[in-house]
Amino acid sequence: MEKMQKLYHDLIRINSVSGNEKEIALFIGSKLEEMGLVPRYSQYKDMENSLSVSTSIDSGKPGKKMLLIGHIDTVAFGEGWDTDPLEPTIVDDRTYARGAMDMKGGLTAVLETLEYFVNHKDEFNGEIVAAFVADEEVLSRGTYQLAAEGLTADYAIMAECRFDNVAIGFRGRYSIDVIVSGESTHTQYYPNKGENAIVTAAKLIPEIEKLSTLVHPKLKHGTWCVRHIEGGNAGTLVVPDRCQMLVERFVVPGESYESCEKQLKDLVKEMGIEDKVEIRLRPRELPYMEPFSLPEDHELVLALQKNYKDVCNKDLPVSYDMSVCDTNILVVTLGIPTVTFGPSGGNMHGANEYGYFDHIVASKEIYIRTVKDILK
Ligand SMILES: [Zn+2]
Repeated sequence: MEKMQKLYHDLIRINSVSGNEKEIALFIGSKLEEMGLVPRYSQYKDMENSLSVSTSIDSGKPGKKMLLIGHIDTVAFGEGWDTDPLEPTIVDDRTYARGAMDMKGGLTAVLETLEYFVNHKDEFNGEIVAAFVADEEVLSRGTYQLAAEGLTADYAIMAECRFDNVAIGFRGRYSIDVIVSGESTHTQYYPNKGENAIVTAAKLIPEIEKLSTLVHPKLKHGTWCVRHIEGGNAGTLVVPDRCQMLVERFVVPGESYESCEKQLKDLVKEMGIEDKVEIRLRPRELPYMEPFSLPEDHELVLALQKNYKDVCNKDLPVSYDMSVCDTNILVVTLGIPTVTFGPSGGNMHGANEYGYFDHIVASKEIYIRTVKDILK
């Protein structure tokens, strides 16, 4: 127990704000080496200060592959802390520090699970793979890099901070640029001459927000949100000939960028402004996250629920997340059924973030039992 707590605290004491994950990756690599495992480092393009590290344990027997995965970066410290965010401070059952909840407890539980199986290779078949990935809080470059390098598995546990329920579905998300054009002229001739792009955009916005979305039994529905707008030039007497907006679209399974674009195109056509509006997916360095949901009776979900009940003596309900995370990549891009469950806490991403150490102890036990059940 003391060893596990020391590992948790050691991980917390390493500053691993996104973009600075090299030190923590090397630290985790050294822990893997101490266990007799081989760390494999992985770097996205020229981001040399931002490593991910992965490893595997082969049972020597044929079987399936289980991936245990978590992100090693944290968000920035921010303001308003009562304690040093880099120094684990224990008050009652809480440990205060940046990453204490999201998600150095999860990393601790995964490392401890690996150590257990290194010493108990007879207790599973197939292979256990573990990945400690960088940049989840920004663009998920770490996971995308591992995907590009051929990461595969039959099942995965994402050790994210979520202890009272297991997430088995996430929405997807796109950012869509909608560019409205008009016709510029000196404002003295307006409105007899010129066409104001801002006025056209102003008519379009409420109609966009009224557009329908598909409905999903658990992920509810998608959303349309116009979250940025820009147009005109405050410094000159010119009728604006361009107004650009950013439309944020959360989607549920069954919706795609193509279906969203079609809705927008049909709308502008109906409004008779199709020749004045350009619609396109905002370019992004890496793919957008697509939505998914796993069946509630998937064997991995059932195994996790059974083991949670045995360890914690209460039920673990399934849940559905309205946002996106690395799990979307694992399930949609790589086709790996993934449950999202791990030690939690409070004040995630805020000041005075804290984690519960007893969640870490329980998660380790639940992960070990679940890997045994699935890789039997
Ligand atoms: Zn997280």
